[in-house]
Amino acid sequence: MKFVWDRLSSRSVQLCSREDDRLESRFHNWLVFMNISELFYSIQGEGKLAGVPSAFIRTSGCNLRCVWCDTPYTSWTPEGQSMTLDDIFDRIADFPTKYVVVTGGEPMIAPEIPELTHRLRDRGYHITIETAATVWKDVACDLASISPKLGNSTPWDRDGGRFADAHEASRINLDVIRRFMAMPDHQLKFVVDRPEDLIEIDALLLQIGAYDPANVLLMPQGVTRKDLADRGLWIADLCKQRGFRFCPRLHIDLFGHTRGT
Ligand code: SF4
Repeated sequence: MKFVWDRLSSRSVQLCSREDDRLESRFHNWLVFMNISELFYSIQGEGKLAGVPSAFIRTSGCNLRCVWCDTPYTSWTPEGQSMTLDDIFDRIADFPTKYVVVTGGEPMIAPEIPELTHRLRDRGYHITIETAATVWKDVACDLASISPKLGNSTPWDRDGGRFADAHEASRINLDVIRRFMAMPDHQLKFVVDRPEDLIEIDALLLQIGAYDPANVLLMPQGVTRKDLADRGLWIADLCKQRGFRFCPRLHIDLFGHTRGT
């Protein structure tokens, strides 16, 4: 009899404790706020998962100021709304996909990013993190989409050049790049603006050390179909020479340069 009682009480303690955990987690999700620029459902336009319907969580704020930034509303003039983790999970639950892209801005500067990604993983999502890999945090990530910024990104003249030195000093962090490359899967996605960029890419790859050319992606810089077409042909040639992957920008082809796509 004592044995049965012990089993029952231990089971009820377990159930209570699980219920407590659930309540605590739920309560916690209400208390953690993130600054979100936009949250939407679209087709992944870039990289190894191009074409996959995905939920996009775009954080606001960036530690860099790329001169050609295609989301200035997350960097040069950041805007967004405060959302709890629960708000975010509720919104993406409406989208019929298990693929989530956490992007920015620079999502890694958001203090809540580890919590967001680990809770996404608990919910069974496949997580891509789009990052310039200048800041490290202990995130859950299935595909690290690492986009180290080349010299073509430095805003020497924009806004009187006031961000140029800080951008130049921060844009490459080899240690963080290597840490992201150790994730279950990764891609090194370079935004290519001019043919000389290849010299810088080669030098950076040499500094990084071991890499697989199949994980190196060259993507044309541009936000119009014409920009992409103008750079596309010679970039495709570079890819053929080096065994790198050509990275399209499908969302521009499909929807144009439009927010929420
Ligand atoms: S890192 Fe990305 S979000 Fe930040 S300024 Fe550069 S392109 Fe824009």
